[in-house]
Amino acid sequence: MRRIAILLCVITCCFSFQRSYFWGFYAHQHINRLAIFTLPPELMPFYKEHLRYLVEHSVDPDQRRYAVANEAPRHFIDLDNYGDSAVYKLPRYWKDAVEKIGEDSLMKHGIVPWHIQAMKYQLTKAFQEKDTWKILKLSAEMGHYIADSNVPLHTTSNYNGQKTNQVGIHAFWESRLPELFAKHYDFFVGPAQYVESPSKRIWLNITQANSCLDSVLLMEKRLSRTTSEAQRYVIEEKNGQNVKTYARLYSQKYHQLLNNQVERQMRRSIKMIGDFWFTCWVDAGQPDLGTLKKEQESEEQVESNHKERLSWLQHLFMVRQEGD
Ligand SMILES: [Zn+2]
Repeated sequence: MRRIAILLCVITCCFSFQRSYFWGFYAHQHINRLAIFTLPPELMPFYKEHLRYLVEHSVDPDQRRYAVANEAPRHFIDLDNYGDSAVYKLPRYWKDAVEKIGEDSLMKHGIVPWHIQAMKYQLTKAFQEKDTWKILKLSAEMGHYIADSNVPLHTTSNYNGQKTNQVGIHAFWESRLPELFAKHYDFFVGPAQYVESPSKRIWLNITQANSCLDSVLLMEKRLSRTTSEAQRYVIEEKNGQNVKTYARLYSQKYHQLLNNQVERQMRRSIKMIGDFWFTCWVDAGQPDLGTLKKEQESEEQVESNHKERLSWLQHLFMVRQEGD
């Protein structure tokens, strides 16, 4: 398991320029871990006991996108596809969205806000059923989708700066910057709170993420104009591999220009995940998690996770061969 994780890390660093974008393994895992510590005493011991599972499985949704049909659109929404003020005009509920826009079109341009809502329903149900592994799986994965929805570049069709000649900006913002600077961030976000309207909250966070987009692109554009290509990139050794990445000084300048934006979005992700986990538990009638059975993960589940990871590896190897 650990060998697969290391291998995935290496490969991800090398091939981060496809629409398999995500906060990066480091950030997703960090975000899920920190969300656990926002929970009240009735929930925290259960989540802490399974911390390792919740952290490791925070990246499952990205790993299965080549094994599961319809997985990819769950990670983003191309708001620009829907014209001006789309974030205010789009239907809040899936049924209304399908009626107005059509399922094919929705799937094409991303469904992250509606998918988080579906997960909210499923996790609440899992708490009602007191199903340990469903609670864990859905909590870990809900954390993933919520974190994705707080990434500005997950709200646009220009997701990797390919329309503005800034290819690579996706991994720069959501992987390179947190890896370099997150150790200095303040992640104290306060205790989890009940969310009266999950739908409103989802759209509020997406609106906030989308409003960051202009500066994400503009600041890098400005900086790149005054920095030569040689100063922009370096080759770094990562897990025994040579990887082309953004230079530390260039990253630092970009980070300063963004004025704590990455930190803010990570904090919003952590807070929202804690709030949603807590809300699902409350809506399920606050079941006593101390009485949950301590079953092992089923063989079927372990096998299915293994297959999903393998398909991800196979895909990445194929991409590498095509690029060679
Ligand atoms: Zn993702």
